[in-house]
Amino acid sequence: MTETPKRDLIVAHYHEVGLKGRNRSFFERRLVENIRWGLRDTGYAKVRAIPGRILVELTEDADLDRITEALGRTFGLSSFSPAVSSPADIDSLVATALDLAREAPFESFRVRARRGHSSFPESSQRVNEVVGQAIKDATGARVDLSHGEWTCHIELVQNRAFLYANRLPGPGGLPAGTAGRAVALLSGGIDSPVAIWELAKRGAAVTAVHFHGQPFSDPSSARQAARLAEHLAPWVRDIDLWLVPFGDVQAEIVTVAPAELRTVLYRRFMMRIAEALALNVGAEALVTGESLGQVASQTLPNMRAIDAVVETLPVLRPLVGRDKIEIEAIARRVGTYEISIDPHQDCCVLFAPRQAATRARLPELEAAEAVLDVPALVEKALANVEVRRFPSGS
Ligand code: ATP
Ligand code: MG
Repeated sequence: MTETPKRDLIVAHYHEVGLKGRNRSFFERRLVENIRWGLRDTGYAKVRAIPGRILVELTEDADLDRITEALGRTFGLSSFSPAVSSPADIDSLVATALDLAREAPFESFRVRARRGHSSFPESSQRVNEVVGQAIKDATGARVDLSHGEWTCHIELVQNRAFLYANRLPGPGGLPAGTAGRAVALLSGGIDSPVAIWELAKRGAAVTAVHFHGQPFSDPSSARQAARLAEHLAPWVRDIDLWLVPFGDVQAEIVTVAPAELRTVLYRRFMMRIAEALALNVGAEALVTGESLGQVASQTLPNMRAIDAVVETLPVLRPLVGRDKIEIEAIARRVGTYEISIDPHQDCCVLFAPRQAATRARLPELEAAEAVLDVPALVEKALANVEVRRFPSGS
């Protein structure tokens, strides 16, 4: 058995960040900071940007599994590759490439050399030829430039060379914290965690707000929301969860409103409370996990009636055009699905009507609310908010 060459760094690539014009360095700096944050306590030595790439230098005892897991959740990265560094001379490149080639059997292969800003004297084509010939001689495998079973990537950057065989996919998107902040309504269900993930993927920082029915329902939905927020935190970088007691508001609504209007009235109050919280934390949008037509409360007339109470912020519904199967597929990939399907008591089923209005009319909703002291109910809910932060202690 030959010893496999030790990976001493990771070469990370980005895509969309690289397309940014004058703002590129802002996005790049944020991506570097987010990588450092995600890799804290994993034994990395240094993270730094070099032209077109980000290098994560590893220590002897870096935890490669945890590092690849964290990078796989770092928005902005298109791919990343555990690599071996080598002096940038042709003999060293050949020796390192042969070490890598001995790790796995293959019948066909290709060499892909690329130059960044490099002082290397040979062209990348010349490197491909020399290294390719050496691998062919050593392994007997044939060269196949388009479908090679195994690829030896060689990146020549500055006065160094990095070699790797495997490219791991990154999640794409834009670095967390580059797109302002949104407040997301997080239930314990399948959809809203996916909506948060979609927003985070576009670079938004997220504050989550969950409404629970205590004391009328048990604490299971709040626990569920906390588990979801904790699971989402590595994608979003960090996330605050605001737990809002909503049972009293619901009890008041029930006394004044026709049963079929309850769900939309609940939502209107959730939106008012969420907007007040959003303005408090400098957020610029509200987010829900609604998808058009999925349930009675998610029709266009009802969305319109719900949004009518939001005074200054856009209400974003990133899942509006997705069906349940698509949403579940993302939830599985993100890992929230298993949490969301655990049974829990959502506050919306509290006093839920047998049949909800699919076309709640504004005059009827406003008539029901006219009997209530709306600002006082909002204030009371806000006064009793509990805040939790994930990862805890951050
Ligand atoms: P989800 O799977 O996200 O619960 P759903 O299909 O069950 O969605 P609804 O229960 O109608 O849909 O909720 C629609 C949206 O309203 C949710 O995606 C979420 O953004 C918000 N929402 C519903 N209930 C709550 C709650 N208890 N706390 C915070 N937000 C909520
Ligand atoms: Mg729900």
